[in-house]
Amino acid sequence: MKTIAERLQSASETISDLCQALNKSPAQVQLLAVSKTKPAADILAAYQAGQRRFGENYVQEGAEKIQALHTYPDIEWHFIGPLQSNKTRIVATHFDWVQSVDRLKIAQRLSEQRPNDKAPLQVLIQINISQEQSKAGVGDEAALLTLAEQVNALPKLTLRGLMAIPAADLDEQAQEQVFTHLHQLFRCLQQRYSQVDTLSMGMSGDMAAAIKAGSTMVRLGTAIFGERVKQPN
Ligand SMILES: *Cc1c(COP(=O)(O)O)cnc(C)c1O
Repeated sequence: MKTIAERLQSASETISDLCQALNKSPAQVQLLAVSKTKPAADILAAYQAGQRRFGENYVQEGAEKIQALHTYPDIEWHFIGPLQSNKTRIVATHFDWVQSVDRLKIAQRLSEQRPNDKAPLQVLIQINISQEQSKAGVGDEAALLTLAEQVNALPKLTLRGLMAIPAADLDEQAQEQVFTHLHQLFRCLQQRYSQVDTLSMGMSGDMAAAIKAGSTMVRLGTAIFGERVKQPN
C-alpha cells in the first residue's frame, strides 16, 4: 500500500505533467488535500510531506481537527462543505477559507462572527453549475454577480473566486463544457474584482479536464488519503 507521502508526491507529479503539457507553470494550480472523515494523524502525515492546504466538509469534525493541530499555525484550513446558518460561528472562528458561500445570509453571519484578531475570511462563491436540486450553490450569472457585490462589501470577508462540484456522471464532453463555463464566470468576476484569483474545480476523478479549462485549485481527497469508509451525518 502506498503511503500518504507517496500519494501526495504522485498527485503533484500528475499536476506538474498536466501543466507542462499545457505550457502552464505548476505553481498556477494549487492542491487542496481534502481530509474529511480522516484522522488528524493523516493530516499530520501529509503536513510532514510538505502539504499545507487542507479541506474539511463537516463543521464539528473540522473544528476538532483544527484544534488538535493548532501547534501547526501554517496550515491553511478550507471549509468546503454545505454550511447552515446555525454553524457559521464555528466556521468563522476556526477556518481560513470558506469555499461554499452561496447566499447573503451565510456571508453576513460569517463576516459578523469573524474574530477581530483574525485576518478576513477568504471566500469562494459556490456555483451550482449543473443546476442540481440536491446541491448547494448559486444558479446563474446574475445571481453570482449580485452575491459577489454583497460579499465584496462585507468587512471581514475577502472575495477570492469560485468553487463548483459538477455532477459526477458527466461524459468527457459535458465535463469540458461545464468547466469551460465555470472559467468564463471566473473571468467575468476577475474583471470586476482585482483580488479574485482562485477557481476551485476538479477532484480526484476529473482533475485533468479541470486543469485544462483553467482551474487554479484542485481538491483531492481519495487520491491523497485513500478511500473513505465512513460518512458522518
Ligand atoms: C469530498 C470532496 C472532494 C474530494 O473528492 P475526491 O473524489 O475524494 O477527490 C472535493 N471537493 C469537495 C467539495 C468534496 O466534498
